[in-house]
Amino acid sequence: MTATSADFALRAESLDAADPLRDYPARFLGSDDPEIVAYLDGNSLGRPPRASAERIAAFVADGWGRRLIRGWDEQWFDLPLTLGDRIGALLLGAASGQTTIGDSTSVLLYKLARGALALRPGRTEIVLDRDNFPTDRYLLESIAADLGLTLRWLEPDSRGGVTAADLARVVSERTALVVLSHVAYRSAYLLDMPEIGAITHEAGALLLLDLCHSVGAVPIELDSWAVDFAVGCTYKYLNGGPGSPAFGYVAARHLDDFVQPIWGWMGRAEPFDMAQGYRPAPGIRRLISGTPAILGMIAVQDTLDMIEEAGMAAIREKSVALTEFALDLVRAWLIPHGVVVSSPVDPARRGGHITIDHPRFREIVERLWQRGVIPDFRGPDGIRIGLSPLSTTFQETLTGVAEIRRELDH
Ligand SMILES: *Cc1c(COP(=O)(O)O)cnc(C)c1O
Repeated sequence: MTATSADFALRAESLDAADPLRDYPARFLGSDDPEIVAYLDGNSLGRPPRASAERIAAFVADGWGRRLIRGWDEQWFDLPLTLGDRIGALLLGAASGQTTIGDSTSVLLYKLARGALALRPGRTEIVLDRDNFPTDRYLLESIAADLGLTLRWLEPDSRGGVTAADLARVVSERTALVVLSHVAYRSAYLLDMPEIGAITHEAGALLLLDLCHSVGAVPIELDSWAVDFAVGCTYKYLNGGPGSPAFGYVAARHLDDFVQPIWGWMGRAEPFDMAQGYRPAPGIRRLISGTPAILGMIAVQDTLDMIEEAGMAAIREKSVALTEFALDLVRAWLIPHGVVVSSPVDPARRGGHITIDHPRFREIVERLWQRGVIPDFRGPDGIRIGLSPLSTTFQETLTGVAEIRRELDH
């Protein structure tokens, strides 16, 4: 070991020892599994909280098993709204009655975008960016094709993201809707809020934010930022499990006029009347279409409990410390190998992960996965190091970057 490596090892040790959230990693299943050497992809699929194994088993045995159909009356019918309110209060800066949970992010994004566009008749453009997550781009392509609208593509710096100045240049009286990710899934660029919202609204347009890569890692204030609509995943930093349902937010000022296009019975006023003709339910229930995935809503509650206990401020602080530490390691060990940092260096403009690029990363990630070192690969040649503040340790971060260096040494 070189002196520098020893210094970093000491630093990881002391950062972990001084970490106010140091007890949380052990609360996740697999944290003591020797075959999982470093899990650096909690921003793609969060680890399971130990408490979730029990909560899910209890739900199957007692909730589903013994309450049976009565469970719907007793709890499940309102769960999308009660859990939505909890996510809103704890994570989104959203007053009650504006958030619900159900469907996938893709489906909710479609419903929100269509509902938003219907509120801006006569306007012909949707503003989006080339570096947004594919599902966001494809859905808006589909909607633009259906409605005969024009997509105004921003081409941000791929190591950064859409700046307020970029947005100000393209919005106009033709803009109906702006759709952006709060944290960019590849670069981790963190949008300049509330500035982005203010620019959108000055043009008379509406803002739909995708929170998949920020929720649970970065503080969010939808109400005070005057965001119109938002959507986000629960299986990334919220550890809800593969395919757990997404949440959707509609600002209270839009709720009376908001109508989404998938008119299912559970989002209708008086759904149990089974009556003729669709009328949207009052309030945020109108965002719901059909029966939501109750089983998929169970595990996320354990992460909400942990976040409530730890506090979002401490979580963001740890997240910044993790990405700063990872960047220091990358600078010392990987940049000499020709690795390029493709994330903002300013922590105020960066979410909870970092992306680094090198032409050999595709083959390297394959070998790392076999050894239980698990970052993810993002083409054309990026490694994304996801650092989930509740479950990732500084030691794990160090191990992950050291293993990448070992591969590059060969
Ligand atoms: C992960 C992610 C999604 C995922 O959408 P699904 O419908 O759950 O597959 C969407 N948008 C962004 C920005 C994401 O990071």
